[in-house]
Amino acid sequence: MEVKEALQQLDLLEKKLYALKTADSALYLDGTTVAPRGTAEGRGIALAILAGERQKLMTGEETGKLLEFLSAQKEELSFEQRRQVEELYRAYHQIKSIPADEYMEYARLTNEAGDVWQKAKEADDFEMFRPSLEQMVVFNRKFAGYYDPGKKPYDALLDDYERGVDMEFLDRFFAVLREKIVPLVHAIGQKPQIDDSFLYRHYPVEAQKKFADYLMEVLGLDRDHCGIGETEHPYTLEFNNKDVRITTNYKEDNLTFAMYSVIHEGGHAKYELGIRDDLQYTCLAGGVSMGVHESQSRFYENIIGRSRPFIEAIFPKMQEFFPEQLADVTAEQMYRAVNRVEPSLVRIEADELTYCLHIMVRYEIEKQLIGGTLAVKDVPRVWNELYKEYLGVDVPDDARGCLQDSHWSGGAIGYFPSYALGSAYGAQMLRNMEKEIDVWGQVTKGDLSGVSAWLREKVHQYGGLLEPADVVKNACGELDPTVYTDYLTEKYTELYELN
Ligand code: ZN
Repeated sequence: MEVKEALQQLDLLEKKLYALKTADSALYLDGTTVAPRGTAEGRGIALAILAGERQKLMTGEETGKLLEFLSAQKEELSFEQRRQVEELYRAYHQIKSIPADEYMEYARLTNEAGDVWQKAKEADDFEMFRPSLEQMVVFNRKFAGYYDPGKKPYDALLDDYERGVDMEFLDRFFAVLREKIVPLVHAIGQKPQIDDSFLYRHYPVEAQKKFADYLMEVLGLDRDHCGIGETEHPYTLEFNNKDVRITTNYKEDNLTFAMYSVIHEGGHAKYELGIRDDLQYTCLAGGVSMGVHESQSRFYENIIGRSRPFIEAIFPKMQEFFPEQLADVTAEQMYRAVNRVEPSLVRIEADELTYCLHIMVRYEIEKQLIGGTLAVKDVPRVWNELYKEYLGVDVPDDARGCLQDSHWSGGAIGYFPSYALGSAYGAQMLRNMEKEIDVWGQVTKGDLSGVSAWLREKVHQYGGLLEPADVVKNACGELDPTVYTDYLTEKYTELYELN
């Protein structure tokens, strides 16, 4: 085989994978947004066939030979081609390492466990979900061994979501966060609480939709290339860098739920839309890791979206959209309300400061589950103990406790730490950005173009072309969690007058 011919085959393989992913995404989007309720069955059949085709394509003998050949011809490939081959070959080996029957069995389990979890959560019945979670842990430990037998199982799983990250690193990382954030939350508890009651007045959906349109405009999201829909749980879905969709959920008695979910998902969308054209329709055309993706969404949501300059910039418009509801409210009151700190039970409703404590609970539990030092039946007890220790709250039931997140039911063990890492990356990006551009001078005017351009240059454009660690280094320098905790300390000391 000639290199030129092999590269043509590579291109064809990539396009086929892209087409399968596009079909899968389109069905998912349809199923979660506009499809009538009784239509899931047919989509399920189509989705299973698409997944099977992808599996066949990725593990086929032809694919193996092609990737092996190109790997051996590395010096004749461009950097972009080399990275494509590297990533595909890695994925090929990973899928191949799992015996076919176990792979099928696991696919069936994840499919079923989602329903079981949903019902267990509704019934507040952990026992109902326990057998699924037990199987999930067994599978994940086994798969970790297939991925990388030289690593501790949980390290192999972590590496799958954020390459280069392991327990040794995360133990140190979370220790810093715990040491700095827990006393801060405690000190805030001794202070008079901020009034945020006006956020829960009646905010009609129609006005909220217009507000969401305005926010997308401020974020610089081109509506010709980024759509917005409605789903129970907000998400971002990318087809390519010219077609990204975000969703939100409008709650009439809550102004900030849709507002901050639009800004958060908008941050994910900015990332996908900013990836280079020449990487499209290849395995490099997408955000590089969960941690880096969350760094972008949480950057826009918290660091920009919950800053005083941003709130001051958009507040006059907010009063136009909601003249009666916000007639007696000032920009400063709004700024304080959206930053109110309150230890709570539910992660997705947590404030910026306590959010990472929710992640730490999940990290400790996953580490012990996969490490074999915690039995699944003891998860509720340990969960409740850790919530008391880190957040000082009593968990009244498992529905608002260890059954609240869908991740484990989908087999995502090792995913949670990316949320905390993303927050820490974001704070370091801010400090570097401030050295180069007048961030706050621009944000005060409601102008996010400088911020966007900086992130596009340092992070977005590369997609998966660079390794996650290199993207982080590029935008953050060496990771130092105290930059993040200093950012939080400064912000909340001023807000709650802690000195
Ligand atoms: Zn996110």
